Amino acid sequence: METYCIYLRKSRADAEAEARGEGETLARHEHTLLELAKRQRLTIAHIYREIVSGDSIAARPQMQQMLQDITDGKYTGVLVMEIERLARGDTIDQGVVAQAFRESETKIITPVKTYDPNNEFDEEYFEFSLFMSRREYKTIKRRMQAGRIAAVKEGNYIGTNPPYGYRKIHPQPKVNTLEIVPEEAEYIRCVFEWYLSGMGARAIAARLNQLQVSPRKSAAWEPISIRKILGNPTYAGKVEWHTKKDGTILADGLHPGIVSWEQFQQVQERRKQKAPPVPTGYTTQNYYHNVLYCANCGHQMKRRPTADGGAHMLCRRNECRGKVVSASVTKVDEAVLESIRYRIQELELRKDKMEQTSKAESETREKQRARIEKALEKLHRQKEKLHTLLETDVYSVETFLERSKALEKQKAELEAQLQACSADASAEALSPEQAILWLQYVLDHFETADAEQKNKMLCRVIRRIEYSKTERMCCNKRHSDMQLHVVFL
Ligand SMILES: [Zn+2]
Repeated sequence: METYCIYLRKSRADAEAEARGEGETLARHEHTLLELAKRQRLTIAHIYREIVSGDSIAARPQMQQMLQDITDGKYTGVLVMEIERLARGDTIDQGVVAQAFRESETKIITPVKTYDPNNEFDEEYFEFSLFMSRREYKTIKRRMQAGRIAAVKEGNYIGTNPPYGYRKIHPQPKVNTLEIVPEEAEYIRCVFEWYLSGMGARAIAARLNQLQVSPRKSAAWEPISIRKILGNPTYAGKVEWHTKKDGTILADGLHPGIVSWEQFQQVQERRKQKAPPVPTGYTTQNYYHNVLYCANCGHQMKRRPTADGGAHMLCRRNECRGKVVSASVTKVDEAVLESIRYRIQELELRKDKMEQTSKAESETREKQRARIEKALEKLHRQKEKLHTLLETDVYSVETFLERSKALEKQKAELEAQLQACSADASAEALSPEQAILWLQYVLDHFETADAEQKNKMLCRVIRRIEYSKTERMCCNKRHSDMQLHVVFL
């Protein structure tokens, strides 16, 4: 059964408000969260009331108890007024709390949003925005990274998903390793052997599909997954971890290999001979891919490296020749970041207003949903009545069937409406606060990110940028006439 708990704790601001006579905070919060539970039909098994107002976990007995309980997997989720109520202050505490929630897969439900640790977006959001300041997040990440490296050096397998051919096991506390899945391992051996016998990744994928061997996630084998298998040292009993700072760490794993180290190396030799040159150039470096479009023709702008090591963004369509002038990527970056800054200001100003609108929208949806549910209930009663009418011979069998069919049709329509209604709710756009957090994240990290990360960040906050520029820069012109029309998500 799914059970939930409530965690109540005063913030410093609450304590001050109470001192001004603004009523008892915990009682008010308790009421709000119980209402929330009622609305979402959650069963509350326990309420943790933190009476002391210490910042650290050590000074918060109820928090310690709750952490223990969620670690034991007691609850599906915890209801709390805001995420910050869970941990504030100490970075280690925040790390502990984040980890406890993540590992026990316990949800956090606030009146504004539900955070599901199984959802990647939520987890990222949870970790690097609200919960910790950015600096703290970095510290924790560094510490976690150090812990991971140590674990890898000891031979632990610390990847999230075990590769095909293995399953994850924890033979002892703090030991994470793999165990062979014999029926899958057999095919891994085939993949290596076939490759050494001269088959390519495409042919191997085709053969596996022909043999009706199913991969774990996708419907069929693709050449790319075969190449990944061939290059994965896990299969030779090694563990590997990539870090930005220290490069790749390779150590002897605690798990058994499926192929020998010699065979694995032979495969790597052969792959090196066969591998096409690493593609360089536009697509990989162009972090404006799927973001920056030419205002004149509507096509994507291309990136062209310049002799001085920089790059330009330009439109290469014939129709734009002479009409659309290129600009340096640096200039485009500056303009985009500037527009993000402006957007943040704008959102800050509109925040309160937008909050009210979105609240009104969700209320309308709630009402609509209630109306549909009521109608469904009515249908249900009508259906029961039909049976009575049939039994008492008021209706003939034909009439009964006809009426039943009509009711069934109405029911299907209502259910479709109800579904559409829920789909609307989940498609809701980011709240202004969330949008600001993401935008701020881009501002803070853009400079140091690599091309791929930059592209991801841009795609997360911007739908489309239209580029126009008609005049070339030359020595007597001070200002560029470049214009970017940025559409935010
Ligand atoms: Zn163009």
